[in-house]
Amino acid sequence: MINPELDRIAGTLRQFGFPRKFAVELCAECNLACTMCHHPFMQRPKGTMPMPLWQKCADEIAATAPSTEVWFSFCGEPLLEPQLLLEMLAYGKKVGLQSLNLNTNGQLLTPDLAGPILDSGLNLIVFGIDGLTAKTYESVRVLGDHETLYANVEHLLAERAKRESGPEVHVQFIVMDENEEELDAFKDYWLERGAIVKVRNKLSWGGTFGTQMEVPDEERIPCPWSLTMMHVFWDGRVPRCPGDTEGEEGAGNAWHEPLAVLWERLGAYRQLHLEHRWNELPERCQDCKDWMTGAATRLRPEEGPFAEPLEEPAELEEKRA
Ligand code: SF4
Ligand code: SF4
Repeated sequence: MINPELDRIAGTLRQFGFPRKFAVELCAECNLACTMCHHPFMQRPKGTMPMPLWQKCADEIAATAPSTEVWFSFCGEPLLEPQLLLEMLAYGKKVGLQSLNLNTNGQLLTPDLAGPILDSGLNLIVFGIDGLTAKTYESVRVLGDHETLYANVEHLLAERAKRESGPEVHVQFIVMDENEEELDAFKDYWLERGAIVKVRNKLSWGGTFGTQMEVPDEERIPCPWSLTMMHVFWDGRVPRCPGDTEGEEGAGNAWHEPLAVLWERLGAYRQLHLEHRWNELPERCQDCKDWMTGAATRLRPEEGPFAEPLEEPAELEEKRA
């Protein structure tokens, strides 16, 4: 094994009895059309997760493994439904979920929403940004407005700095050909403002997008997404993995069966990964590069509330785009 980072990740993977991470597609609509994302090409019906479906999932996670990382994130922008998000977070806290996390493009996290979001019980907020200048940001995060986003994030950071508790705030930079020249300046800008800077690789979304990642076949590792994470679409369907963006190889529906049963149904795929039986995996896994995404790098500011970790950082990558 030549790639030490992939080697390290591979060493953490095994058959888990329940997902370590659970992604909730609160809303399948999005206000942006980012160039690195599957969402602009999504064919399946779009909608919003009903509260009773979330309650069913949250109850089972709380009863089975309350420390499971729950991510409000998949294909869509959760803050298109801010009240529903706040209600779902409140319910998750009430039933005892210990790790509630949000991934957002930040356009709608306006100053009037900053207080409720900071008070919501979230453990972590990740802003998908990917550009320092307006030109780069708006060419990658299509339909996004640079000025609005930067003002929203800076306001949230200032509000968070005034409090003695609240979520960590990460600003994410997915490295792409289009933006890599801005990475160093992006880091400096946000570290000076007290954010944690998260740098990660671009995904191939099940092999449909080109990425700059290259790892020789002989260094392939079991797919961390497959081994650790379950996703549920807004309508309850559970895809085989995040590369199964349309749910064509799904395990079933969370409305009708327990999450543990759906997870167990995907166990045979996980075993193929663990035994390196790559040729027996579904065709999607043959072209997909997402197993090589690796963990993100996180840089902490020297001062402010995020200078020291609030808790141990996640071992593995958790999020799509
Ligand atoms: S990356 Fe996020 S914000 Fe951009 S189109 Fe995809 S779901 Fe929307
Ligand atoms: S490598 Fe296979 S299991 Fe992993 S994300 Fe891609 S398609 Fe899914």
